[in-house]
Amino acid sequence: RLVLGIETSCDDTGAAVMDETGVVLGEFLHSQKEVHLKTGGIIPTVAQQLHREHIAHVVQEAMNRSGVTPGQLSAVATTIMPGLALSLGIGLHFSLQFVRQHRKPFIPIHHMEAHALTVRMLQPIEFPFLVLLISGGHSLLALARGIDDFLLLGQALDEAPGDTLDKVARRLSLTKHPRCSGLSGGQALELLARDGDRSKFPFKTPMGQHYDCNFSFAGLRNQVNMVIKKQEQVEGVEPGAVLSCVNDIAAATQHTIACHLAKRTHRAIMFCKAKALLPTNNPTLVVSGGVASNQYIRKALTVITDTTGLQLLCPPAALCTDNGVMIAWNGVERLRAGRGILPFDQEVSYEPKAPLGVDITADVKEAN
Ligand code: ATP
Ligand code: FE
Repeated sequence: RLVLGIETSCDDTGAAVMDETGVVLGEFLHSQKEVHLKTGGIIPTVAQQLHREHIAHVVQEAMNRSGVTPGQLSAVATTIMPGLALSLGIGLHFSLQFVRQHRKPFIPIHHMEAHALTVRMLQPIEFPFLVLLISGGHSLLALARGIDDFLLLGQALDEAPGDTLDKVARRLSLTKHPRCSGLSGGQALELLARDGDRSKFPFKTPMGQHYDCNFSFAGLRNQVNMVIKKQEQVEGVEPGAVLSCVNDIAAATQHTIACHLAKRTHRAIMFCKAKALLPTNNPTLVVSGGVASNQYIRKALTVITDTTGLQLLCPPAALCTDNGVMIAWNGVERLRAGRGILPFDQEVSYEPKAPLGVDITADVKEAN
């Protein structure tokens, strides 16, 4: 059996053809990141237009590379939630046309479920396992109990860590920094932080008084912005000029984000242990999303998993960010389980907001 996966939920147009065992037969990805980097953020109508321009070519290229014809496909799987409405709409519209033309079943995919399950494509991880998803659009902790059975333990109350890193990088004008050209905000700050002293700016770790697993990064961004403003005055430079202490600010910001993520993850692990929600044999924490490629953050999480006896797994960077492969894999998982497979002529709509699984974030709070 063969599945075509299509992803357009945010700013990547991705497609992949996969066989039943998870082998990628062909894939193609068109990233809009450079365009959005120039405008300092994603403008939904621009993202929509770029998806519209590229989707047919991206899908065709993935199909060509796989050597599979539409007639040989068993199903088409496409992200329909959550994400930017205008972006989701393009992928869904294209996919429905495709399945109707070729009379193939359609499998709607939840983007965050796909991120969470990607790891199973690479190695046989049994349910249940704990997942930390950290990206530009999300920050959440969940227990994966089955391919479509999740418990949401904690989520972002304001912005996601990747968003914070991107905004701080923009405030620091890192695109003008000679070492950071072409890098995302998170990558730029990680690079500069290596030569920085985090103790120069001791930011407060967010939500110290909140005994749950939710995340908050907006307050930290305020603290960082205030420090940047003050340093601009101290150094007597214009707002947005590259500061001499930029490495120290990068190191302190990254460190505080790592601490916050590690503390929330530790609490989630303790909660799951107390409620016997994790297997005693080889319990696992999966970390994914663009921010998961950060080595400093990963090290902080490793300290937590080492002390609590979990193994930490993180898919390779290309599979942590948005791509068609993870959508095809989620399609394969659903096809194998016979779940969520729709006939080609069924009406389907996209859902920009779609929480992951059953929300028990309030219970996690009570348990502490
Ligand atoms: P989502 O997947 O939630 O829809 P997204 O498309 O913005 O959102 P990803 O593509 O998974 O998310 O990741 C991009 C984010 O990851 C950016 O915010 C970027 O700054 C961040 N990022 C990338 N590399 C690193 C790194 N090495 N350290 C920290 N953050 C990073
Ligand atoms: Fe994503």
